Amino acid sequence: MNKIVPKPGIMDIALYEGGKSKVDGVSNVIKLSSNENPFGPPEGAKESVRRALHEMHRYPSGDHLALRTAIGEVHGLDPARIICGNGSDEIIHFLCQAYTAKGDEVIHTEHGFAMYKISARVSGATPVEVPEKERVTDVDAILAACTKKTKLVFLANPNNPTGTMVGLAEIERLAEGLPPQTLLVLDGAYAEYVEGYDGGAKLVETRENVVMTRTFSKIYGLGGMRIGWGYAPKAVIDVMNRVRGPFNLSNVALAAAEAAVRDTDYVEKSRNENLRLRTWLAEALMEHGVPSDTSTANFVLARLSSPEEAEACDAYLQRQGLIVRRVTGYGLPSALRISVGDEPACRRVAHCIGLFKAGER
Ligand code: PMP
Repeated sequence: MNKIVPKPGIMDIALYEGGKSKVDGVSNVIKLSSNENPFGPPEGAKESVRRALHEMHRYPSGDHLALRTAIGEVHGLDPARIICGNGSDEIIHFLCQAYTAKGDEVIHTEHGFAMYKISARVSGATPVEVPEKERVTDVDAILAACTKKTKLVFLANPNNPTGTMVGLAEIERLAEGLPPQTLLVLDGAYAEYVEGYDGGAKLVETRENVVMTRTFSKIYGLGGMRIGWGYAPKAVIDVMNRVRGPFNLSNVALAAAEAAVRDTDYVEKSRNENLRLRTWLAEALMEHGVPSDTSTANFVLARLSSPEEAEACDAYLQRQGLIVRRVTGYGLPSALRISVGDEPACRRVAHCIGLFKAGER
């Protein structure tokens, strides 16, 4: 008899459901379901990838020094405190693998990113969900939920899928109040969309218990290349490097990211365009009777009046060739998360939601 079974807890893991990119029977869809940059990556990144293809028979850099140096220069950070991952998902994995085991607790917020729970469970740890206040992180609730078993607290700021964020003073208060064995992970996947926000980098420099994660998947338009990075105290970097596979990023990914991070004009243009279109989209939805929270990221969380209405609206949009994201698994069954696309995409999704609210099905 077959006795091959995974370790306890693995089968409790809910499979991660990414944003859909296809609708059966509908061609030319507009994808607004994965918070990608609608303008793609900067040109320089594409050129670098073309050049790097000539090196595909070579192993990539194992220490990512060139990329870490570029990130350090652009963000004013110490490259020795940077670690690169196959998406920031992988940095989340490193942290759970290195710092948690069975019996440990990993805190995430009520409407927090799905990978925190998944990674915690892979490591055998117990995810602990902390309520938010009207879809905004509640620092007091997090502090109240901490126990002697709490090893990691994950906080996305801005948060996905709500788009809301908390100020640095609140985050500092959280870091200050944590138990001595707990590491605070500030997930800055959307940090570049907030002008003047450093994702918590300064806090990492002044505290032993804070780590920041970032990604090239969002504003840099490189989701398909899988590149993320973390900034952490040196001791934490040393720990994570023991868990990291030696060649976890490909030559092409490293080349793309190095060129992209240096293109600060591109980031600024993308941020400004996102702000303009996000503001427009939120107002247009409101005019159609669909409110959303004040988003600080590259998506809006449109709140329909019931789970049934959200389901019907999602299905209607799909028939119109528009893919948005249902966020039922994030405890938000009446909401639809809509990525900020280019202008025609924003106009189309607002128009279709208007028709839906007017009764079209
Ligand atoms: N954190 C948050 C809050 C996210 O929304 C995402 C992507 N959806 C990630 C991390 C992971 O991004 P990646 O692995 O592509 O860097």
